[in-house]
Amino acid sequence: MAELIDRFGREVTYLRMSVTDRCDFRCVYCMSEHMTFLPRAQVLTLEELAFIGETFVELGVKKIRLTGGEPLIRHNVEELFDHLGALPTLQELTFTTNGSHLAQYAERLKQAGVKRINISLDSLKPDLFKELTRIGELQQVLAGIEKARQVGFQRIKLNAVILSGRNSAEVLDLLRFALDRGLDISYIEEMPLGSITEHNRGEAFCSSQHLRDMIGQEFELIPTSENSGGPSKYWRIPGYNSRVGFISPHSENFCSTCNRVRLTVEGRLLLCLGNEHSIDLRSVVRNHPGNKDKLIEAIMQGMSIKPERHYFELDNEPQILRFMNTTGG
Ligand code: SAM
Ligand code: SF4
Repeated sequence: MAELIDRFGREVTYLRMSVTDRCDFRCVYCMSEHMTFLPRAQVLTLEELAFIGETFVELGVKKIRLTGGEPLIRHNVEELFDHLGALPTLQELTFTTNGSHLAQYAERLKQAGVKRINISLDSLKPDLFKELTRIGELQQVLAGIEKARQVGFQRIKLNAVILSGRNSAEVLDLLRFALDRGLDISYIEEMPLGSITEHNRGEAFCSSQHLRDMIGQEFELIPTSENSGGPSKYWRIPGYNSRVGFISPHSENFCSTCNRVRLTVEGRLLLCLGNEHSIDLRSVVRNHPGNKDKLIEAIMQGMSIKPERHYFELDNEPQILRFMNTTGG
């Protein structure tokens, strides 16, 4: 069976699948306030998503992350988890969630084979949390995190996008929250995906090194070579079980080790987060239902156009017009 290797010799072993572009939050860095969402006919069915996911696994993909939008608001999404979780050669099935529906789903998704999960949490202050998500209720997310801890996932990681002057004063509070509960945490530099007017991305930029300097004033940070198969680089703090990660698309380019591709819920196979190169897999699965050879051919074609790297600029208009929720973050 063919393997997924691009022109630069990078092996693709990680697929991030967006299962919906919809969300019950409107995070200021991710979406504009008044988003329009895709009509149902343009969205892949759960069966189409399962077929594509399964084909990627046959091509050597070892890790699949379901994301969105908010994956847990897709009706019957647990059926997709069940299907993918039963694939014998898939080593890891995981998802990223805003946590709002996690209390309800945690147990069920663990049964489907999920071992590690990511939960986004940008603030521990209810008012600021609401401001950043425009809608979200912090208590609901905290309840989701508690439930996930009780259910006993192997690892839970918090993701925090840090914006200067907004939640940057909470970097240490978020860290203590994670350390006290044995959770991992990754701090993310905001990426210029989609045009927003709510804040200036250049002014809000907070580099990972700046965050490490802030944390370093209170905790000893030890660099590690640990890897969770994604773009986070990890540090450890002596005496704690947590890993402290930094995702630094601006300040520490990670493209040379890129092992991933993304599938939007419209069936567009995106070869890079920061470029528009893509292959339309929806037309392949709809024009040739059940034809795995055609699908494999299209995926292999994707390997020949995967770009070498992204170039993000914060101070100019974004070159990438799709928002993170349509991309599959
Ligand atoms: N709704 C889920 C959530 O929020 O976790 C999953 C999808 S969300 C798009 C995935 C991750 O992307 C979240 O951790 C979110 O904070 C991050 N994200 C969204 N827009 C971003 C941006 N412009 N720059 C950096 N990270 C972003
Ligand atoms: Fe929704 Fe996640 Fe985007 Fe926030 S980051 S608006 S929770 S998709």
